[in-house]
Amino acid sequence: MSRTFDVGIESLAHQPVEAQHHDAPSPAAEPIRSASPPVVNGKSFYIETFGCQMNVHDSEKVAGVLLARGYRAAANPAQADLMLYNTCSIREKAAQKVFSRLGEWRGETQKIIGVLGCVAQQEGEEIFERAPWVSLVCGSASYRKLPDLVAELESGGRRVMALDLDTDETFETEITRRDNPIRAYITIIEGCDYACAYCVVPHTRGPERSRASDSVIAEARRLAEAGYTEIQLLGQTVNSYRDPSPRSLNFVELLQAVAAVPGIRRVRFTTSHPNDFHREIVDAIDATPAVCDHVHLPVQSGSTRILRAMRRTYTRDEYLEKISWIRGAKRAISITSDVIVGFPGETDEDFADTVSLLDAVGYDGVFSFIYSPRPNTSAASMPGAIPEGEKSRRLAFLQERQRQIQIARNAALVGGEFEVLVDARHAARGQWAGRTTSNRMVNFVSPRENLLGEYLQVRVTRAGPNSLVGEHVD
Ligand code: SF4
Repeated sequence: MSRTFDVGIESLAHQPVEAQHHDAPSPAAEPIRSASPPVVNGKSFYIETFGCQMNVHDSEKVAGVLLARGYRAAANPAQADLMLYNTCSIREKAAQKVFSRLGEWRGETQKIIGVLGCVAQQEGEEIFERAPWVSLVCGSASYRKLPDLVAELESGGRRVMALDLDTDETFETEITRRDNPIRAYITIIEGCDYACAYCVVPHTRGPERSRASDSVIAEARRLAEAGYTEIQLLGQTVNSYRDPSPRSLNFVELLQAVAAVPGIRRVRFTTSHPNDFHREIVDAIDATPAVCDHVHLPVQSGSTRILRAMRRTYTRDEYLEKISWIRGAKRAISITSDVIVGFPGETDEDFADTVSLLDAVGYDGVFSFIYSPRPNTSAASMPGAIPEGEKSRRLAFLQERQRQIQIARNAALVGGEFEVLVDARHAARGQWAGRTTSNRMVNFVSPRENLLGEYLQVRVTRAGPNSLVGEHVD
C-alpha cells in the first residue's frame, strides 16, 4: 500500500488518480429507485472521475440525479451528449490531468462539456478561460442543480456555473447509481472544519455538515435490501460526525446502528482524524463483529514540530497514545496511515522522527506523498521549501522502510485462515481476489465458480508487501 503521490491529505482525498468511468451500469448495481418512472429525455451522459472514494461516490450520486431526470448512461464519451469530469485538485498532477482531458475536446460544439468537483470549486471561471469549449462548472455542494444547469444550456445559455458553498445541506439523494456491486458507500459528513496548512478541502468542500442519522440508517437498510453486505461510511473527517437530528447520535452510535442493520456483515469508515479518535471507537470495534478491524489514522508526520506547522492539532505522543488503544484491543486491528514528506521546514531530524514513528507503530500500509504547494493553502507561502531531489530521496527511504515493515507483518499471517469478501476475478491468473475484515487483499485459487460477493474462508500460503496469496478452504 506504500505508494507515491505528489501531495497528500487524508486518504479520502488522495487515493490513486485512476480515472473511474461511469458508463453502463454494472449488472449487479443497485437498481435506481424513483417514486415515478423518469421521463426519458433522449439525452445521455458520461462521467469520468478522478480521485478518492468521496469523489467516486459523488459521481454515483450525480449519475442518480441525471438518471432520475430522464438521462441515460452513454457507453463511452463519444456517444454522450453531456460529458462530465468529476475532478480532484488535491494533487497538482490530478488537476493537470483534468485540463489535459479537457484539451481532447478542443473546439467541440455538439456536446456539453462540464467540470465538477474540487477543480471546479478551486478554479471557477478560470476554467472557461483555459478551456472555452467548457460550458458547465459545478462544485460539489451544487450537484442537485445539475439538471437545471443543463436545461439552461439547452435553452440557449452559453455558460453556467454553480459554486455555492454557503449551504447547510449535505448532498444526499434517494437515487444513487451504484457502480460497485460489492461495497456501497454512504457519505455521513461533508466538508471539514479543520485547517491543515497543506489542504484544499476546507476551500473546495466547505464547512463540516453531518447528515441526519435516520437518513443514513434508512440508506443502509435500502442497501441491505438490494443485496449489499458491506458498507463504507465516508467523510473527510468521518469521526467528527455529529447527528443534526433530535436523536443526536455520536459517531460510535451511528456506526453501531449501521452495523445492526439486518443483512449488513461489514461496516468500514474512512477517514478518521486523530483529534476525534476516541477510545470508544476501539471499544465499538471490539464489541461489534460487523465493524471491520481496520483503522485508517493519518499521521502525516512523526515530528511534533512539523505537526504544529501543519496545524494538525495533535502531538506525536498524543497520536501514539491513540495507537496504544488500538493495539490494546481484543481484536487484532490493522492500522494504516498517510504521510507527507518534504513539508516546508522539515529537517533531517523531523524526517527521522517520521521514520521512527513507522517503526513504533508497525503500520499495515502507508500512503506516502511528497509535499507540493496547492493554491488557497497557508503552507503554499511558508518559507523553508525542501529541494525536489531531497523530497524524492526522503520518500524513497521512507517507502523502503515501510515495505520492510509490511513484509514482516504480512509474513506473520502465512498459515492463518481468514474470511474474505470476494470482490474481483483475475481471469488470466486463474485467481480470485478478496479482502479480509482488516482490509488485506488476498489473491486465491478456488475450484468453485461465480464467487463474486461471497464470503469464503481462505488459508494464506504466501505473503508479499502489499497482498497475500492463499487457497480457498471449505
Ligand atoms: S482534516 Fe480537513 S483540512 Fe485537514 S487534511 Fe483532512 S480534510 Fe484537509
